[in-house]
Amino acid sequence: MTFATLGLIEPLLRALEALGYQTPTPVQAQAIPAVLAGRDLMAAAQTGTGKTAGFAVPLLQLLTMEGPKVTANSVRALILCPTRELAEQVHASVAQYAEHLPLTTYAVYGGVSINPQMMKLRKGVDVLVGTPGRLIDLFRQNALKLNQLQTLVLDEADRMLDLGFSEELANIYRMLPKKRQTLLFSATFSDDIRLLAGQMLIDPLSIEVSPRNVAANTVKQWVVPVDKKRKAELFVHLMRKGKWKQVLVFAKTRNGVDALVDKLQGLGINADGIHGDKPQATRQRALDRFKASEVQILVATDVAARGLDIEDLPMVVNFDLPIVAEDYIHRIGRTGRAGNTGEAISLVCADEVNMLSAIEMLTRQTLTRKMEQDFEPEHRVPDTDASGQVVKKPKKPKKPKTSGGGGKRNLGKWVESGEVAAEPSIKPVRKVPVFNTGPRKKK
Ligand code: AMP
Repeated sequence: MTFATLGLIEPLLRALEALGYQTPTPVQAQAIPAVLAGRDLMAAAQTGTGKTAGFAVPLLQLLTMEGPKVTANSVRALILCPTRELAEQVHASVAQYAEHLPLTTYAVYGGVSINPQMMKLRKGVDVLVGTPGRLIDLFRQNALKLNQLQTLVLDEADRMLDLGFSEELANIYRMLPKKRQTLLFSATFSDDIRLLAGQMLIDPLSIEVSPRNVAANTVKQWVVPVDKKRKAELFVHLMRKGKWKQVLVFAKTRNGVDALVDKLQGLGINADGIHGDKPQATRQRALDRFKASEVQILVATDVAARGLDIEDLPMVVNFDLPIVAEDYIHRIGRTGRAGNTGEAISLVCADEVNMLSAIEMLTRQTLTRKMEQDFEPEHRVPDTDASGQVVKKPKKPKKPKTSGGGGKRNLGKWVESGEVAAEPSIKPVRKVPVFNTGPRKKK
């Protein structure tokens, strides 16, 4: 199959060829004809599967072939993204695909001045990519009109709910014309997302290009058990031992990111960090420098977990496990993209056993544990498996086979009850928007 056989027009074929896209990926092969046919779409695609082109390319074709010219402050297609970085990245791809088309594209998001965005929107924009909060601000200030909208895309929809954008989504939904095409993309599909899809989509075509909630099999994953207080030391040890070139590291909290970056920089390691407290320009610069291989270690909170496309990233390290198990899939999806192989290593302490268990259950695999010499934890990480079982108490060590050898020797360290801190419930409570604007008409 080629892009030409999917019915794409020549200027798009030229753009894809220039990018080196030779054959459509599975999600593209299914999504492109469906979008061109005007269908609503509900697509579950793993990260790195080429889903951006899957929705953007046919959308650009429809905008070129159909509909009136965009008027002042209007947009004809709106792509909603959960994070600023993702909005930038999606916009960069859309602009590349649209290079030979007579269409305008733009990205808007918070954390930067709104005025230039308002100026830019004055003439109208064919494809607008943005984060929900800033889009609402622009709408409220009359800088954005949605009455010309033909297509709405929700990218990483589950992440938008995770980040608490449910109310913003409900508000945006109320501003939309009833007659439109809606495309919903999500790396994972929770029940909340299915509910949202039921409210927003009409007779959608469901696309699922990979088994639900299974991490990319191009990523080699394993766990190194370690005591919490020795994680940074272990990270540096593994990095030096493995001669790691470029690593994206995920830490749970903003403070955790800063502490690790300080420690690494103090050791003369070329590291930088991104998290939600940093100004947008600083975040983007750190990311750009990492992408350009000018930074060796980028430490991030989950703000960087989704959607970011970093070419040839060989390794992801979970310095802390994510609280939401699904984030594990998104984090490790930063490596092993577009057919490359990658490695994902998780440094796991006893406190994190419930999170480990939830991840194994979600990904339907028991992660291999590799003990690192001299870093064996004093607080043992209880056994887990893909059934979601946590063996709270370790098996009693076997007595030495030789009789009379003194069964009390080699007892090792037992986990005392209470050593494994109880985790909060793994799933956060997500609010699902309630849309009460009645059924809408299909385009
Ligand atoms: P995405 O899942 O949209 O973030 O895409 C992941 C990566 O795959 C990006 O670097 C794309 O440029 C690349 N890509 C998307 N579609 C294709 C294709 N058909 N052939 C080769 N690379 C692709």
